[in-house]
Amino acid sequence: MIVGASLAGLRGAEALRAEGFTGPLTIIGDEPYEPYDRPPLSKQVLKGWVPADHTALPRLRALDAQWRLGVAATGLDRATKHVLLADGEQVPYDRLLIATGTRARPWPNPAEAALEAVYTLRSRDDAAGLQQALAARPSRVLVIGAGFIGSEAASVCRDLDIPVTVAERGSAPLVGALGGVIGEIAAQMQRDHGVDLRCGVGVSSLEGDAGGHVRRAHLSDGTTVEADVVLASLGSIRNVEWLEGSGLAAGFWGVGCDAGGRAFDINGVATDSVYVAGDVARAPHVLYEYQFLAMEHWDNAVLGAQAAAHNMVNLEPHYRPNLLLPGFWSGQFGVNIKSVGVPPFGDEIVFTQGSVKDRRFAAAYGRRGRIVAAVTFNHGRWLEYYGRLIQESAPFPPPPPGWDRPDDMQPMPADFPEPGVPTAVPDVVLTGHDPNERRAEFRPRR
Ligand SMILES: Cc1cc2nc3c(=O)[nH]c(=O)nc-3n(C[C@H](O)[C@H](O)[C@H](O)COP(=O)(O)OP(=O)(O)OC[C@H]3O[C@@H](n4cnc5c(N)ncnc54)[C@H](O)[C@@H]3O)c2cc1C
Repeated sequence: MIVGASLAGLRGAEALRAEGFTGPLTIIGDEPYEPYDRPPLSKQVLKGWVPADHTALPRLRALDAQWRLGVAATGLDRATKHVLLADGEQVPYDRLLIATGTRARPWPNPAEAALEAVYTLRSRDDAAGLQQALAARPSRVLVIGAGFIGSEAASVCRDLDIPVTVAERGSAPLVGALGGVIGEIAAQMQRDHGVDLRCGVGVSSLEGDAGGHVRRAHLSDGTTVEADVVLASLGSIRNVEWLEGSGLAAGFWGVGCDAGGRAFDINGVATDSVYVAGDVARAPHVLYEYQFLAMEHWDNAVLGAQAAAHNMVNLEPHYRPNLLLPGFWSGQFGVNIKSVGVPPFGDEIVFTQGSVKDRRFAAAYGRRGRIVAAVTFNHGRWLEYYGRLIQESAPFPPPPPGWDRPDDMQPMPADFPEPGVPTAVPDVVLTGHDPNERRAEFRPRR
C-alpha cells in the first residue's frame, strides 16, 4: 500500500512493479486528482502558459493498482497492519510506503487567511486560483516570504508587468537556502526587475474591505502596503498528523527513516514493513555527517521512492540506499538557479567561475576545509563537475576548473542565518553512474 498519490507515491508504485511485484497494490491520496507535477505550478502555470490541469505526471509503466483518490488516511495501526481511511474503511497492508509530503504553511491568522485573494501555493487548485487572480491584473500583489516559491511568484508578476511587493523577514531573498552572500545577489536581481523588496520586516496583519476581499497589509516597521492579491509563501508543514499514535518516529520534522527508507519507530529502531519517501522523509546522509536531512526536492522524491520500493520487495543483503546528492533548480528573473549538495551545511563560500555582475557564475560552499555544495546562476552545465567534487569530499576552496575564473577567488563567510553544529567529517565517495546503484566507500584522507 502507498499513502500519498503524488510524485513519490507514483514513482514508488512504478518501481514496485518494475522490481517484479505482482501482488495487489493500493494507492491512497487525499487529493481528487491523479498525480501531477508541482514545479510548473509556480512557473509555467502562474504565467498562464500551461493550464493547472495539464500538469499530470507522465506514467512510466502500467500499474494495475487500486486507486483510492479523494480520501485521506487518518490513522495507522501497525499492530494489525491496517491503514484507517477518512470514510471509515480499514485497509490491510503487508508493506506500506508513506509518501504524504508536505502542505503549505497557512497565513497564521485564520480570519485574515480566509479573506478573498489570499493564497498559498502548493496544489493544483492553489495555482489555478492564483493564476486567475493574476490574469485579472491586480493593482499590486504582495508576496510574503522570499524563499524559492515566493521569489518565483514575484518573478512571474514582473513578467506579467504586475506591480509586486515582497516582504521577507530575513535579510535577503533565498537566505535560508543559499546564505546571505547569494541572497544579496538575489535581492539585487529582484530590485533590478522592479520588485518593491522589503527585507528585515514581517507582515503583522492583513486587512479586507467590506466585501471580505484583501486590500492592504500592515508591516512590522509601521508601513502599509496596498495590495489586492496576497501570496503567503511561508514554507511547508509535513503531513504527519495521521500517524499520531502509530508509534513511528514522526513529528514536525517529518518521519525518521534509514537511508533505505525504512521508517524508524519512536525508539529509533528500524521497522520491517513501513517505508517513507519524498518530502515527508528524513534520513541520515553519509556525505553530511550522517545528519538527518529532509530534502524537499523533486529528485529526492523520485530516487527515495525507488530505493524504498526496491527494499520493500527485496531481502536484506540486497537493500539499497538513497545516496542522492541533493540538488534543486529554480527559474526566476530570467536566471536559471541550480544547486547541488547542501548549501546551508557550509559556512564559507567562494566564487569559482564567471561574473556576479553578469549574473552568470558558479560558487562553492565549504565547511572545515571540504566542499559541501555549489550553486550556479545561468551556469548549470558545470554543476556535474562540482557534484563530483562534493561526492569525493574534495578540499575547499575547490580546484578551479581552469576556465572562466573570476579575479577574486577569496573564500568568505556564506552568512547563513543559523549555521549547523560541526561534528566529524567522513571521507566518502559515491560510486557508479546509476544513483540507485551507488554505494558509499570510505577512503583515506588525501
Ligand atoms: C509550487 C512548487 C514549486 C516547486 N518547484 C520545485 C523545483 O523547481 N525544483 C525542485 O526540485 N522541487 C520543486 N518543488 C518541490 C517538489 O514538487 C516536491 O519535492 C515534490 O512534490 C515532493 O513529492 P512528494 O510525493 O514527496 O510530496 P507531495 O508532492 O507533497 O505529495 C504528497 C501527497 O500526499 C497527499 N497526502 C497528504 N496527507 C495525506 C493523507 N493523510 N492521506 C492521503 N494522502 C495524503 C498530499 O495531498 C499529496 O497529494 C516545488 C514544489 C512546489 C509546491
